[in-house]
Amino acid sequence: MSLVARIARLERISRKLEPDAVERNEVRENVIRYTEHFLDTIATRKAYEFNSNLGAELLKSPIGEKSMPIQKAMKLIERAVDFPALNPASGGHLGYIPGGGIYYASLGDYMADVTNRYAGVFFAGPGAVRMENQLIRWVAGVVGYPRHAAGNLTSGGSIANLIGICTARDAKKVRAARVSSSVIYMTHQAHHSLEKAIRIAGLGECVMRHVKMDDHHRMDPIALAKQIASDRKEKLFPFLLIGSAGTTDTGSVDPLDALSRVARKYKLWFHVDAAYGGFFMLTTYGKKILQGIENSDSLSIDPHKGLFLPYGIGIVLVKNARQMHATHVYQANYMQDALSSVEEPSPADLSPELTKHFRGLRMWLPLKLHGVKPFRACLDEKLLLARYFHAEVAKLGFETGPKPELSVVTYRYVPRKGDADAFNKKLLTAVQRDGRVFISSTLLQGKFTLRFACLSFRTHQSTVDTLLTVLKREVRRLSKA
Ligand SMILES: *Cc1c(COP(=O)(O)O)cnc(C)c1O
Repeated sequence: MSLVARIARLERISRKLEPDAVERNEVRENVIRYTEHFLDTIATRKAYEFNSNLGAELLKSPIGEKSMPIQKAMKLIERAVDFPALNPASGGHLGYIPGGGIYYASLGDYMADVTNRYAGVFFAGPGAVRMENQLIRWVAGVVGYPRHAAGNLTSGGSIANLIGICTARDAKKVRAARVSSSVIYMTHQAHHSLEKAIRIAGLGECVMRHVKMDDHHRMDPIALAKQIASDRKEKLFPFLLIGSAGTTDTGSVDPLDALSRVARKYKLWFHVDAAYGGFFMLTTYGKKILQGIENSDSLSIDPHKGLFLPYGIGIVLVKNARQMHATHVYQANYMQDALSSVEEPSPADLSPELTKHFRGLRMWLPLKLHGVKPFRACLDEKLLLARYFHAEVAKLGFETGPKPELSVVTYRYVPRKGDADAFNKKLLTAVQRDGRVFISSTLLQGKFTLRFACLSFRTHQSTVDTLLTVLKREVRRLSKA
């Protein structure tokens, strides 16, 4: 076969990758029918499907040369992927930190994927990069950062924390020889993604100080200042303070203003993990409780939590753009065309990623179509629902943690006789088996404790009332047993 004939033969096959309008329509109709059915029934779907189907059916259908019709593929997704275990799209998801999934974001993703705009470098996709930078500037404004702060749309809070910590490392000149005498400060309630980021950043051998907390699990700024002073006396190099703007476990907010003053006094880099709590800055109450966040050097904040977006988007902000750039920039020869016309910073110069998903559109479209107002109302509603739950669950005889600072409540039932930990474990399983709502647990001072975490945009008062009803019923049943 001639070269040209071989090419022609391959072209005929490879053109299958470009379905025509009729084929596109058929597949799209199936997908839309499926997702519409999902949304139509979301209110009555379980938040947790307690069964033995763990998606293993997928493995019986290996990836291979043969094509599969869309109907069959949809059935497989429904049974193996969208049915078992936790349903994060459900308003009944009240465990961990609930996610979102607002609809217009999915259409933003759809458009970004069809057009496949390149959002890594300004030269290639100036509009896409401008859109992402506009969103970053908007978030900077929300948290009280200056307009010239730099930022990046990441895949989530973990990578946002990593970028912040790598920038801190370089800005404070913590090179290899200095690592083992450099000191990092945070509390035991800091998110584990920070420990992970510290290790990945090559800072795993730093001295780690877990600062004392008050009885609301907030860092004690006086203990912090004492520890820094004593570390300096020991000829150690305190360089990084990490505060939490809403811990995952208990929703506690460190005293950010006081921490920022300690950081400034001792010239520490102040990173705030606001992955969960940051967007409460859109509310009047949140601004009060998160006061001081604007004095940090860097922060992470998750639109896939507090802006209810589907999973896959976090944000890191760094106040000093030059420092963020210094840590992440790289010039390759083959990229030399991209150097001209730098009206806007390129995401590729501010993150470990080069080619990346055009994440901006999934955030921009819902913000434009809804405006900010319903987002703010939804966050205020979550704050009040947490206070409502805190009051109502106490009326059912539960021991409760402190009045919620944000939207997490801790609580446990202490039965008249028998082991309280065992009782609450059984209670947790009973709620999960009911499945209408999903809750999770933690250990506080060694005690097995239940958590109520309210951040799904689909959680409303009726959801909370369902949880209260299930708790009441199951406590009664378990008390009799
Ligand atoms: C969720 C969370 C993270 C991690 O963010 P991901 O988006 O899951 O990577 C970090 N810190 C806090 C406080 C969180 O709640």
